[in-house]
Amino acid sequence: ALRVGIVGLPNVGKSTLFNALSDAGAQAANFPFCTIEPNVGVVAVPDPRLDRLAELAGSKQTLPATIEFVDIAGLVAGASKGEGLGNKFLMHIREVDAIVHVVRCFEDPNVVHVEGSVDPLRDIETIETELILKDLETVEKGHQRVAKAVKTGDKSAKAEADFLARMEAHLSDGKPARTLEVTKEEGVILQGSFLLTAKPVLYAANVAEDNLPDGNAMSEKVAEHAKTEGAGSVVVSAELEAQLVELAPEDRAEFLEAAGVEEGGLAVLVRAAYALLGLITYFTAGPKESRAWTITKGTKAPQAAGVIHTDFERGFIRAETIPFEAYDRLESESAAREAGQMRSEGKEYVVSDGDVMLFRFNV
Ligand code: GDP
Repeated sequence: ALRVGIVGLPNVGKSTLFNALSDAGAQAANFPFCTIEPNVGVVAVPDPRLDRLAELAGSKQTLPATIEFVDIAGLVAGASKGEGLGNKFLMHIREVDAIVHVVRCFEDPNVVHVEGSVDPLRDIETIETELILKDLETVEKGHQRVAKAVKTGDKSAKAEADFLARMEAHLSDGKPARTLEVTKEEGVILQGSFLLTAKPVLYAANVAEDNLPDGNAMSEKVAEHAKTEGAGSVVVSAELEAQLVELAPEDRAEFLEAAGVEEGGLAVLVRAAYALLGLITYFTAGPKESRAWTITKGTKAPQAAGVIHTDFERGFIRAETIPFEAYDRLESESAAREAGQMRSEGKEYVVSDGDVMLFRFNV
């Protein structure tokens, strides 16, 4: 499953948000893996198309796509030098696909700010500086690793060393790795480099409930900052989310309406994470179960099948696929097939968002 790490300074609302998100996930129906560890929560990705498919296919089970949220507590100034939970914290970040950076954009005299005042841009810089310092360390180690090979005249080692030098200069300027423009070859090196600041970031500006849905002057600054570094941003209220999960599901819509918001923060975050990561969904539907699967835009049929099982990818023959829109309109697989809406696709087929797929494979 996709793993998203929640980071931020202490007392910005991370745990409040994390608990609300994982409670919301725990309450979703037919949930396969709820709790993994105390700080890891799995949430179902809300998708009305999946419910419709399950209804049409008469499925016994409905299995939504899932995202794992990991609460990564303990980042403080000096973490890269071992302050706070220091290195342990940074190790956890290495393992996630994307980062949700919670930024405090609410005033509350009862909630102490570690820096003494509320200033989202300063907070963002504090966290980013620690991550950049850690990345500089990683880049230096990389240099040492390739140095010998460069001396023997190894061309690919030379290319890597040049790239690392460019990255080092960039990081030293206080810029995150994800804003460095890279060639295709460098992109491959970067992917293998495990740099923390190369990961996609979504800023979650945590505002007071009455600043929803548009946010406030502080969250606007966060959004502007996000734009300058190719990151995403959303406005959430951790407190509102915490109240929301306390309610019975049937009372939630009314509560949200009263707060002036259309949907809960979970749906907002999930959608933003999908957009940020370029993710799409395909479906499988049958009497046993209907299920949503997450892939990256541009994934071809065999690799999409591989998300279900590696055997599906290895033995891939063909994929039968119906666009969701056609399935929805014609109301069954057989009707879609008769109407010529079920296509048979080969290895080069690029899966589209909403494809309802059936894989043929050798075992
Ligand atoms: P963490 O250290 O980042 O995990 O922060 P917590 O989630 O533990 O929150 C720290 C304190 O801030 C708690 O007392 C929360 O109740 C409070 N808090 C969190 N979000 C909000 C918010 O949106 N508004 C206000 N007023 N308090 C909040």
